[in-house]
This record gives sequence, C-alpha cells and structure tokens, in this order.
Amino acid sequence: MIRNVAVFCASANGLHPAYRTTAEQLGRALAARNIGVIYGGANVGLMQAVAEAALSAQGKVIGVIPEVLVDLEVAHHGITELHITSTMHARKALIGERADAFLALPGGFGTFEELFEVLTWHTLKLHAKPILLLNTNGFYDKLLSFLDDCVTEGMLKPKNRELLLVADTVEDALKKLKLDD
Ligand code: AMP
Repeated sequence: MIRNVAVFCASANGLHPAYRTTAEQLGRALAARNIGVIYGGANVGLMQAVAEAALSAQGKVIGVIPEVLVDLEVAHHGITELHITSTMHARKALIGERADAFLALPGGFGTFEELFEVLTWHTLKLHAKPILLLNTNGFYDKLLSFLDDCVTEGMLKPKNRELLLVADTVEDALKKLKLDD
C-alpha cells in the first residue's frame, strides 16, 4: 500500500511552463488521494512547485534536507515535517525508508542521481518499491532511448530496464502506480 511517494525533481523550473504545471498537478493529485509527498525539502524550482501545490490541497509534505542546504537558506520551513540530516547520504537513506514508491520529474544531476540510486538498489534487491519516471513534454526521451541502447549493447538486463515505469501524464503515472480511483 502506497502512503508516501518520494518525488525527485529539479531545483530549477526549466524553460517550458509544463514542467512546473505538471509538478503542481502531481502535488495536488497526491494530496487528493491522501498520499504524502516526500522530497528534498527545498523551496526552489519544481521541488517548490510540488510542495506548494500539495500543501494548498491540504496534503502532507515531508522534506528531508541536509544541514549544508539549510545553511544556504533553500529549506522550505512551511511544510508538514522538515527533517534536517547531517549528510546527503543520511538524507537519501531517510527518503528511501519513508517512501513506498519513487517518482522522478524532470531535473538535473541531483534528480538523475536519486533516480538511478533507487533503480540500482532495486536491481540489488535492497527494496522492491515501484519507480516511475514522469516524462513531461518528452524531457526524458533521449535517456529512455539510451537505456534501450544499453540493453542492446548487453550492459543492462532487459528485466532491469523494465523496472523503470514511464508515464507521460500525471493521470498515467497514478494509473501505473495503481493510485487511480
Ligand atoms: P537537480 O535535479 O540537480 O536540480 O537536483 C534536484 C534533486 O537533488 C532534488 O530531488 C533534491 O533532493 C536534490 N537537490 C539538489 N539541489 C537541491 C537544493 N538546492 N535543495 C534541496 N535539495 C536539492
């Protein structure tokens, strides 16, 4: 049963307005289903968009942020729970423990790192939670085609490639995570 979804996403807003509007739509959709959002705890970019939208729909938002980023004043202090960890590693461990599913929106290095870590942990059987990529505006098309090339080149097992669920819309994402009603 999914009670909390970890959302990995950009500290930037990106060029196309769809990135932010989809993040907001996701935040509202999770709140409407009484599902908590666990995220990087920041008040910037798409992270802020998801958190604000969930909060304004009376949703639960749990932020997990390392001390170093609190010092840089990017922490969101208006969320339901803000956990401050001593390191980035402790932060990711806590997000991993609290989440029942992982969802990545468009982002940069931070988002990729988080997504690939949970995928790797799944292949190593360290967890068995669903992982979904929300491919807003085809942002990840080239990455997905590269992953297919990795299978062709014998670097990635087809069964591991299939661990990454992909959705083009919030509605499709909810369906694939079996959260649609
Ligand atoms: P990026 O995709 O490189 O913008 O990084 C975003 C992801 O990395 C988020 O899911 C966060 O967990 C983490 N992250 C990166 N930058 C920040 C920041 N300024 N504040 C909090 N978390 C961040």
